[in-house]
Amino acid sequence: MFKKILVANRGEIAIRIMRACRELGILSVAVYSDADRHALFAKYADEAVYIGPSPSSESYLNMEKIVKAALQTGAEAIHPGYGFLAENPAFAKLCEENGVVFIGPSSSSIDAMGSKITARQMMKDAGVPIVPGTERGISDPEEIADVAERIGYPIIIKPAAGGGGIGMKIVDRPEDLAPAVVSAQSIATSAFGDGTVYLEKYLSEPRHIEFQIMADNRGRTVYVSERECSIQRRHQKLIEEAPSPVMTPELRKRMGEIAVKAAKAIRYRSAGTVEFMYSHGDFYFLEMNTRLQVEHPITEMVTGIDLAKEQISVAAGEDLSFSQNEIEIRGWAIECRINAEDPMNDFAPSPGRLRRYRSPGGPGIRVDSGVYTGYVIPPYYDSLISKLVAHGRDRSEAIARMERALYEYIIVGVATNIPFHKAVLRNERFRRGDINTHFIKEENILDD
Ligand code: ADP
Repeated sequence: MFKKILVANRGEIAIRIMRACRELGILSVAVYSDADRHALFAKYADEAVYIGPSPSSESYLNMEKIVKAALQTGAEAIHPGYGFLAENPAFAKLCEENGVVFIGPSSSSIDAMGSKITARQMMKDAGVPIVPGTERGISDPEEIADVAERIGYPIIIKPAAGGGGIGMKIVDRPEDLAPAVVSAQSIATSAFGDGTVYLEKYLSEPRHIEFQIMADNRGRTVYVSERECSIQRRHQKLIEEAPSPVMTPELRKRMGEIAVKAAKAIRYRSAGTVEFMYSHGDFYFLEMNTRLQVEHPITEMVTGIDLAKEQISVAAGEDLSFSQNEIEIRGWAIECRINAEDPMNDFAPSPGRLRRYRSPGGPGIRVDSGVYTGYVIPPYYDSLISKLVAHGRDRSEAIARMERALYEYIIVGVATNIPFHKAVLRNERFRRGDINTHFIKEENILDD
């Protein structure tokens, strides 16, 4: 097992990983920017190394500085968390070249899933169902029109290098196609440095259902149940739950085995997530995320498996500590992403000082956060204050506990999306589990 790990991230996920280290008896090293001098994660770590100015391009994305910090402090491995360098094959490679273990998949697995087009091609070859559309970049206006006609409107145009819902365009009618392609290409070029786009059929009333995968270095691969992430605003997840309200044991086995097949096709190791769109009984591969996800805690709550610790131990060369048959789902878990953003002002980020902060507790509540009273949320990074997770024996108990926890939460000084979460939780359709990715819009939650 490792003796020391460097955590190349900040905020709640840095603390989440350091907690795993502490339980495993591993020392942790934080890296921090100017804006994070007073951040909790930098204090929580056993050692902290300053890596540069606040903009992430000069600190959390500076690969050389981070690897140098690992070598200087004698850390044998680097955990990238999510975001920043977590899905950057060049970073995984740089770690490999410097003899530092990258806690995640190989750079070639990351690379394979880095382009959505390559991923679609590989998945199709492996026999994994993909959303109807193109498996290569497409730019000729006539060809685009032909393909759109063939798969049928509405369609969605997506950047090959995409992420975070950026640059995706839904097109309902042929006459809107050409301008949408041009706009998607230009957004993709400026956001990802790659203007390649492709088409997919835009599915009606889809649910976003994803499978947690865990694989060790020997190739033993299991699915650790699913998460339903259909409560989204502008393609960004806000509330996730496990299990999915539409899941049956048979469907779980079918989708889970396909997720394992997808992972094996790219010789995957470590924790990963295979995302599917589920629509009227059919499901299609959407993409694979080659990292620990933001929403991993709900899976931990219902399975009792500590995914962060498991990820560290398989990176150290140990076998998976459980087999497919040993995984059991107990009860229900829901996660609300508590963001410093103003639901009354189009969810604009709301950085600033937390004048008062008191997080909820009591039965079945877990709060993953990196903040404290007096902490100033910097404007440079994402607006996540915490992940509030409620676990209950069944869905209605999990909902009741979440509502109670949201009532207990005290955050003064910045605007938060807590009113949004309260509105979703008391919505009748949500309570029935009758959700899809358009739920927020359809239900007009806080006038989206
Ligand atoms: P990103 O990587 O930018 O997050 P994804 O491909 O994962 O993009 O899609 C994000 C979300 O966009 C999905 O969860 C879903 O809500 C919506 N979406 C993506 N593709 C489709 C599709 N073909 N049909 C309907 N909705 C889609």
